[in-house]
Amino acid sequence: MVPPGSRKTGRFGIPAGQSRAAGNQLLRFLPKAAIEFIAPHLERVALTRGQSLFEPGDDVTHAHFPLDGAVVALVLPMQDGRVIEAATIGREGAIGGIVSLGSKPAYARAAVQIPGEAMRVSVARLEAAKRAAPRAHDVLVRYADCLTAQVLQAVACAALHPLEARCARWLLMTHDRLQQTELPLTQEALAEMLGVARTYVTRIATELKSRGAISYSRGTIRILSRSQLEQTACECYVSVRQHFDRVLPGLYPRPEH
Ligand SMILES: [Zn+2]
Repeated sequence: MVPPGSRKTGRFGIPAGQSRAAGNQLLRFLPKAAIEFIAPHLERVALTRGQSLFEPGDDVTHAHFPLDGAVVALVLPMQDGRVIEAATIGREGAIGGIVSLGSKPAYARAAVQIPGEAMRVSVARLEAAKRAAPRAHDVLVRYADCLTAQVLQAVACAALHPLEARCARWLLMTHDRLQQTELPLTQEALAEMLGVARTYVTRIATELKSRGAISYSRGTIRILSRSQLEQTACECYVSVRQHFDRVLPGLYPRPEH
């Protein structure tokens, strides 16, 4: 045990006495045997805003597990240059090579939305860990089911729900993953994620601000009232969260109020 207040850090910069998986909930959910198997091969890497972890068609060589505060979006780039977000992944999850056997080409782009750090491990090592600890395979398949739920819900949301509700939903999802009221996010980035022109997002942001839900300044959106955002968001926010809670109870970050 590490005495309270000790800041001694381990090999990956994580306080000694904690698991190397600290900071990523999905890693915490993996059985000890799997963590021991991959721990010597885990690398701590910086994720910079806008960085692409892989592009459509790339071989996915590594699985990335975002640590506190980092958010990566799976987006579909269109031929005209527009992109649309399919899923938001933070410390509750991982990107790349979760269920596939060996390297497989990516279908989407994994773009860093909010910078931070991640632990990464080669897909080959992760595969070996699944074979060594079958329960790790079960956890990762369950996580993949949650990720699929996010993508399916995003299809319905983009087709049927008004932009204001989608915007509120996106802010709530991001707030859950950051656990801080200030989201380092421009309105341009938000517009890109929602697949709409910046002017639409500006109008929505102004409306949310007038209701006391958010405030914003250059490059930062501050959440002032989650309950306002929850009232504005569509059912998709709660549906996905509930699915996470049923499939992997305790994985999804508890919303802060
Ligand atoms: Zn929706």
